Amino acid sequence: MADREVDFLLVGGGMASAHCAAELRRRGADGSVLLVGREPEPPYERPPISKEYLRGEAERSEAYVNPPSWYEENRVELATGRNAMSLDPEARTVKLQGGEEVAFGKALIATGAMVNILRVEGAGNEGIHYLRAFGNADAIRADAEEAERVVLVGGSYIATEVAASLTARGVRCAMLAMEDEPLSRTFGADAGRWFRQRLEERGVEFHGGEELELFEGDGRVRAVVAKSGLTLECDAVVVGAGVRADAMLAQRAGLEVEDGIVCDSRLETSVAGIFAAGDCCSYDSVVHGRRLRVEHWDVAMQQGICAAANMLGEGREYDVVPYFFSDLADWASLEYVGPAREWDEEIWRGDPDAGEFSLWYLREGRVAGCLSVGRSEDLAEARRMLADGVDVSGAREALADAGADLGAIA
Ligand SMILES: Cc1cc2nc3c(=O)[nH]c(=O)nc-3n(C[C@H](O)[C@H](O)[C@H](O)COP(=O)(O)OP(=O)(O)OC[C@H]3O[C@@H](n4cnc5c(N)ncnc54)[C@H](O)[C@@H]3O)c2cc1C
Repeated sequence: MADREVDFLLVGGGMASAHCAAELRRRGADGSVLLVGREPEPPYERPPISKEYLRGEAERSEAYVNPPSWYEENRVELATGRNAMSLDPEARTVKLQGGEEVAFGKALIATGAMVNILRVEGAGNEGIHYLRAFGNADAIRADAEEAERVVLVGGSYIATEVAASLTARGVRCAMLAMEDEPLSRTFGADAGRWFRQRLEERGVEFHGGEELELFEGDGRVRAVVAKSGLTLECDAVVVGAGVRADAMLAQRAGLEVEDGIVCDSRLETSVAGIFAAGDCCSYDSVVHGRRLRVEHWDVAMQQGICAAANMLGEGREYDVVPYFFSDLADWASLEYVGPAREWDEEIWRGDPDAGEFSLWYLREGRVAGCLSVGRSEDLAEARRMLADGVDVSGAREALADAGADLGAIA
């Protein structure tokens, strides 16, 4: 016998769960809602952690998805600082840290992602940081303030954003990346060169095509050493080596798991009545015609909302084109729809020198993704073309002409 019963159980105290809770209430669901999260904070948005919050320009509370009072006002029981230890899909119960067993009607698993830890020689030195939560940002900021130089290991958005944020605070930064150009894994080498110029003109050193060998230190990190022999002296390191889905609870419960928790196009897992959303969710994308898992703020929110609708029996397919944004301090803001895993053509539109362009990624004559810097208006059209599978092979000139009407491409 379970200790108690709830109608809706939401495991994971992040974006996806918070939006799921809000949507349940918006839709008039009257049943009991329990939201269980491991972190001490109420659900919050992570993007500021590498941006405004890291730069000391914003308070933690500004990132909260809902004000703390919202939960009580909306009868959503918030169990922060508590782990869901195990889930029994047959008995439909979850065991919480401390031993309490809760039976549920419907459940959402939104356990997010975990950072990849680099296990190389010297990894135990002080001053080597990863970034996922507020506390990590506090520790980075404190170390960076004392540092002669900070090295960012990684060439993706976390390393790039942190390099920009710390440089904006007057900290000397160098990046060591396997990619030849920053952000090139997602956006390609040409866009990567554009971002590299933005970083270098502000003083960030970029060392691409380098693989980490080890960290040197005397208890505290003193240098990052690459396999090529390149040695970057430093007093602090921030590693941005990607994340992987936190699917541990689901896996132990026997739910189907691949690179994330496997869901159908309605975000339902292999067990009826148990849904997944956000960074941990690997779903059948009706837009892309393949299974997809992305780690985007907007996707966690939209999937939380869609999961709520489906917990209430709507049976809605998740058909939103994934959207991502990132800022390099106040030097450049990028937005992206996609993701284009592969493409065979790139078309530039607008003026990269003026910092206002969109870059279109085509595959077999169709839009696979679109990056915008200062041309947000292009993204709505890119999203439409991507979702509808519009054949743009006869519209290359219009795509490249910043004055042409994209709405006419159908
Ligand atoms: C520093 C940083 C900057 C980012 N910037 C951007 C950006 O600019 N643009 C963008 O689109 N995306 C960005 N992202 C990604 C975005 O924040 C994530 O995609 C989003 O937070 C995912 O939300 P989620 O609810 O799936 O997971 P999370 O926000 O990770 O929440 C999951 C929560 O569940 C908890 N949990 C896990 N297991 C259990 C358990 N068994 N019991 C209880 N609780 C558990 C975790 O501790 C965590 O608190 C950024 C991420 C980081 C880390």
